[in-house]
Amino acid sequence: MEKEKIMSILEGAFDKGREAIPGGAVATYIPELGKADKNNLGLSICTKYGEHYNIGDTTTRFTIQSISKIISLALALEHMGVEKVFAKVGMEPSGEAFNSLVELDLNSNKPFNPMINSGALTVSSLLLPEFTFEQMTDYTRKVCLDPEIAINEAVFQSEMSHISRNRAIAYLLESKGIIETDVEGSLELYTKMCSLNVTAESLSNFGMILATGGINPKTGERVISGRTVAIIKTIMLTCGMYDGSGEFAVRVGIPTKSGVGGGLLSVVDDRMGIGVYGPSLDEKGNCIAGRPLLQHLSEELGLHIFNRSRF
Ligand code: GLN
Repeated sequence: MEKEKIMSILEGAFDKGREAIPGGAVATYIPELGKADKNNLGLSICTKYGEHYNIGDTTTRFTIQSISKIISLALALEHMGVEKVFAKVGMEPSGEAFNSLVELDLNSNKPFNPMINSGALTVSSLLLPEFTFEQMTDYTRKVCLDPEIAINEAVFQSEMSHISRNRAIAYLLESKGIIETDVEGSLELYTKMCSLNVTAESLSNFGMILATGGINPKTGERVISGRTVAIIKTIMLTCGMYDGSGEFAVRVGIPTKSGVGGGLLSVVDDRMGIGVYGPSLDEKGNCIAGRPLLQHLSEELGLHIFNRSRF
């Protein structure tokens, strides 16, 4: 398909996303996030050949929030192995909100999956004795091909002073013997990782590396092992949009991870990474423009994981 045709499809998708913005709201439970401009929207694509297509606010910096959960999970899997990580955290969709502790308290002795806060706090507790935040930031820069990534201190401080719910989850995890390292240190590491500033373009770069199975096509370097990448993409498909993951998988069919900063990272296997920035969120905490935008792309470009033809 020629570039012009692709650009006109991307513009169509962008318009669908923009129409949905008024129906959502920026996150305010972390007060600093409430300062975002609800009308911002960016769409960045990086193909496996390293070509970029950018529309809108693709260089605006915003905090990665829960998309950092896949970076921490990748690092944990690479260094501790699959069995050790999944002894502590499950692989099942929870059907609950990202910050729920109900299922964990009532029905389970481990968090349902590493994409909800309880699971990600558990992964942080595993990483805490092994890595410094600086090393994890470097890893994030490497997988996002973005050396400018750094902590947003204002968002970090803002979340740390409104951390009661995550602190409750972390101590519940300790009471169940799931967190065995320093609880406060695990909370801080998790929150710092959520506070890294990225762009839609950095997310599309990371998505592209996941799409290639873990190789940076620009250098030929293997950045993540194929086994880890397969696990990450599977968990993105089943759990990446929290309790909206099932509908998203049916309608869009592109493994995607969201963050309450407004970011989305999507992977079209063997084809491209997609990064979206839109801080207007739906009631589940996912970028509200994302679903219509990505559904349009999926249908027009044949990107559904189980239907690669145009609908
Ligand atoms: N830092 C946020 C929190 O723990 C991340 C949540 C999210 O992006 N869904 O609440």
